[in-house]
Amino acid sequence: MRLFNFKSTKQVIGVVALAGLSTISFAKDKVYTWKIATTWGPTLSPFIDTVHNMADMVKEMSNGRLVIRVDASNKHKSPFGVLDMVKGGQYDMAHSASYYWKGKDIETLPFTTMPFGMTAPEQYAWFYYGGGMELMQKAYKKHKVLSYPGGNTGNQMGGWFRKEIKTLDDLKGLKMRIPGFAGEIMAKLGLAVTNVAPGELYTSLERGALDALEWVGPGMDIKMGFHKIAPYYYTGWHEPATELQFLVNEKKFKKLPKDLQAILVTAMKLSAYDMYIQNYAMSADSWSKIATDYPKIEIKTFPTEIMDAMKKANKELIAEKSKDSPLLKETIESQLNFQKKAREWTIMSDYLYLKDNLK
Ligand code: CA
Repeated sequence: MRLFNFKSTKQVIGVVALAGLSTISFAKDKVYTWKIATTWGPTLSPFIDTVHNMADMVKEMSNGRLVIRVDASNKHKSPFGVLDMVKGGQYDMAHSASYYWKGKDIETLPFTTMPFGMTAPEQYAWFYYGGGMELMQKAYKKHKVLSYPGGNTGNQMGGWFRKEIKTLDDLKGLKMRIPGFAGEIMAKLGLAVTNVAPGELYTSLERGALDALEWVGPGMDIKMGFHKIAPYYYTGWHEPATELQFLVNEKKFKKLPKDLQAILVTAMKLSAYDMYIQNYAMSADSWSKIATDYPKIEIKTFPTEIMDAMKKANKELIAEKSKDSPLLKETIESQLNFQKKAREWTIMSDYLYLKDNLK
């Protein structure tokens, strides 16, 4: 049977019912109307596109039986409150990044990304074939929320700085927007770390509330205009594979018929993968124009002294934070073990291939 041939499926049900099999139900035609809240504004490509793609696919594949309305942050006004809104049932779903609520629940943090952690292919392998999905559901269980990978940015750039960073002392006292575990590392290195909603990043930098910030990569950053104020653009270390999350109210999910559940899960997985490739294309496109269109941008890599201090702080923080949560400890250990194994293969395959092709 063709996957998308829902019209003929309905006709078959009708004919069977007319033939006298009254036990066949028409409940399948019930329309479910859902709402999803996003951390992102209405034009923030590719994050918001992922959500629309998911909702469009669900509508098509269910022949209109599951319709999901997308509310961007300008509508619900609470970009970082989306987990609570799904928990509370005001929204059926959300799309965000789980490191945004590390202050409330640090156990969900590693499912976005970890500094010096896995690359996107390694991390997807961990999610789907290395136990990651099971650990993620375990972390979200207390919120009565289901979580699914929601799109990956790939390796992110280390951020925009007003001045060049040459020594550890240059970092001290800088006001920087950098979320997740990396934010904790930067705080340990003496920065004043804060998180700012995506829609307020440029203004905060312009007004001096921030001296530096990291956002994503050239595909998303250049459009924001950060380079006009902070021209030093550092390569990444802190978010090697940032995975966004779809969050679903568990009770509402269980109320869906099995076929709609399968459609929703499939649409989330496909739209997540689509975001990864869309963002890759956007970044490749922007990067190819940097030298000609934005000659004032200075591409830099953090000096070894700083990278070493970041790695040391990362290890100390992992040990410190893991003490209070067996689940966080289990998750980080699972990631590190998988990374060790997968990295051997990444080096043998991608790294050596690229290295040989640079000659
Ligand atoms: Ca980022």
